[in-house]
Amino acid sequence: MSSDDTVLRVALPLPLARLFDYRAPDGVQVDSVQVGARVRVPFGPRELIGVVAAVGPLDAGARETKSAVAILDTEPLLHGELLESLRWLARYAHAPLGEVLTTALPAALRQGGPLPETDEVVWRLVEGASLDKLKRDAMPHRLATLLAQRARSEDELDDTLPGWRTAARALSTKGLAESIRTTPARVAGNGTPGPALNDEQRAAVEAIVAHDGFGAVLLEGVTGSGKTEVYLQAIADCLARGKQALVLVPEIGLTPQTLARFRTRLGIEVHALHSGLNDTARARVWAAAARGEARVIVGTRSAVFTPLPEAGLIVVDEEHDGSYKQQDGIRYHARDFALVRGKALGIPVVLGSATPSLETLHNAQAGRFTHVRLSKRAGDAKPPSVRVLDIRKRALDAGLSTELIAKVRATVESGGQVLVFRNRRGYAPVLLCHDCGWSAACKRCSTPDHPHPMTVHAGGRRLQCHHCGARQAAPMACPDCGGLALQPQGVGTERLEERLIELFPDVPVLRVDRGSTRRRDALESLLAELGDRAGILVGTQMLAKGHDLPNLTLVAVVGIDEGLFSADFRAGEKLAQLLIQVAGRAGRARRAGEVWLQTHHPTHPLLQTLIAGGYRAFAEQELVEREAAGFPPFAHLALLRAEAKSAEPNTRFLALAKACIDDARIADVEVFGPLPAPMPRRAGFQRAQLLVSAPQRRALHAALEAALPALRDAPEGKRVRWSLDVDPVDL
Ligand code: ADP
Ligand code: ZN
Ligand code: ZN
Repeated sequence: MSSDDTVLRVALPLPLARLFDYRAPDGVQVDSVQVGARVRVPFGPRELIGVVAAVGPLDAGARETKSAVAILDTEPLLHGELLESLRWLARYAHAPLGEVLTTALPAALRQGGPLPETDEVVWRLVEGASLDKLKRDAMPHRLATLLAQRARSEDELDDTLPGWRTAARALSTKGLAESIRTTPARVAGNGTPGPALNDEQRAAVEAIVAHDGFGAVLLEGVTGSGKTEVYLQAIADCLARGKQALVLVPEIGLTPQTLARFRTRLGIEVHALHSGLNDTARARVWAAAARGEARVIVGTRSAVFTPLPEAGLIVVDEEHDGSYKQQDGIRYHARDFALVRGKALGIPVVLGSATPSLETLHNAQAGRFTHVRLSKRAGDAKPPSVRVLDIRKRALDAGLSTELIAKVRATVESGGQVLVFRNRRGYAPVLLCHDCGWSAACKRCSTPDHPHPMTVHAGGRRLQCHHCGARQAAPMACPDCGGLALQPQGVGTERLEERLIELFPDVPVLRVDRGSTRRRDALESLLAELGDRAGILVGTQMLAKGHDLPNLTLVAVVGIDEGLFSADFRAGEKLAQLLIQVAGRAGRARRAGEVWLQTHHPTHPLLQTLIAGGYRAFAEQELVEREAAGFPPFAHLALLRAEAKSAEPNTRFLALAKACIDDARIADVEVFGPLPAPMPRRAGFQRAQLLVSAPQRRALHAALEAALPALRDAPEGKRVRWSLDVDPVDL
């Protein structure tokens, strides 16, 4: 084959399920181009950055083939396991490889930027430096103490010791410290030993490190049972074997506190990957991992795409967490993809949770995952006691019963902290006219049959739609009857905060939700400010995890009743997980914790089971029901979504999809719909969906495989925005 007849098959970031052929750029030998290298190519009037997916013979019938403009990488950027795993993901998601690569690569690299330098400026004490002359606890002393443990990069110092630069200059003038440029891997020092593990923890670590090759380990441990200690030991073992470790955490779990704990214990630079990083920093961590310099990477969902040339372990903390599922673009699940990678890499994958997803429990029960348990809290902490408050026919004050208010009072008066949990942000869920019954609905998200209420904010002055973001001032008078009897109905976190401040003027009341704590570290500083003082936290599920609050002794759960009657088959699972997680915040240290749960449905089976038997009992019962109903994990689902300005193009497109799938005649595949989406209209778009279900994954994929080519070409598809979600989480 002459090189004239050889072309580069390039994956481009386009919604087209094919590769694009280009000749090598002028003056470049096609044989010298590596699969996995980025390439700049002409595409219509533009240029695009793509990745060489293959090098192969020119198609006989091909029309004129253009030349690429430039090859951007001499060494492939993507190769080996990661490239193969991403190819797998493209097949699994039925998505173009180019779009998958776009999702996986950091933006700076996707746009063609060079693989960044990973040298950093690192500070260390000079040999034999004595700290005796430094004033104790002054800034230079604090910095020197940190550096005495190990050298630290400027990035890490920025995170750990704000204002360290002046101190560094002082130490450097005194000849005590110096800075050098080096790669982070060389700054390892000694870790600080953690607590001696208890028997269960030791067994868990054994179960993980015993794996020589792939193995999934479900680490099921109640909140505070010491799962993180188990991860840390397993990671230390992995580092000692000269391997890299990747730790995935939920979006709100990646706090400076978590990172500091990892750094201190492991005695090594820990690279963080989260949505707060800018493009350059993100690409730098990616490059450091790709070069094997980053030994421990802790990150949120998309960190699952980190290259791991010397992989030893992957940990997925809080594996049940909803933030692991990407909800647009390529709809991957980071936990599931972590398992795929673990298998390809031949390394253990640890899935940790107090409330494992039913998928994971099912896998463990079927013997596919090793199941280890931590049944009690570590150290001296005791499990919290739970009390259900029946509030039927009771007077409520901003949603709080008299008993609950008295209990909060007793708790703060004895110096404790209270968490009031309400999973509704804003002032009130609805603005209602008391004269005529009109209520404020979002114009862009409502249909005649499904009015979607605007949430009341700012003490009643503003209205906001939590689905499309629309905002407006609250009307002074009812738009329908002109009456002035407009009243916020129901209670959100803002209203709770307002009332609690009135009721408890002498203690701090802090609200924690997406409205109050937009910035990543805002929550940390709020909580740091509170310290151990008596006080009240009001918040949404943002408060359900993360930060340790040793003085938190009462968790009050108000208004979860909506969740008991949702149509989504996963609603029960989500509610059970949330309740257990929130309850787990109580009594994490020596003081015993209590959970008070207010409800109008004290006899609801979910609550009864959860309280009598815990999450385990709930999950077992739920699995039986899922099996009977033919829902996941006993069936595999794919959801085809369509949206358009009017309903008719959706119906046409989805009807065509149904016909294509039916025509393929794959046994056991069932198709439901087209049906309106649970939110039939959002931001001005009508939304509909088609659900495809099969007891076997293979049948599901065969059906999609058969239908998709026709759908991609169909004119009906051009009139809607459509997307495919394999293993959808929200139906
Ligand atoms: P989880 O990750 O399961 O919530 P952590 O690992 O954060 O639990 O542990 C909860 C608390 O218990 C932490 O303060 C931790 O330092 C402490 N802890 C964990 N294991 C032990 C142990 N074996 N002995 C004493 N304290 C422990
Ligand atoms: Zn009215
Ligand atoms: Zn809206």
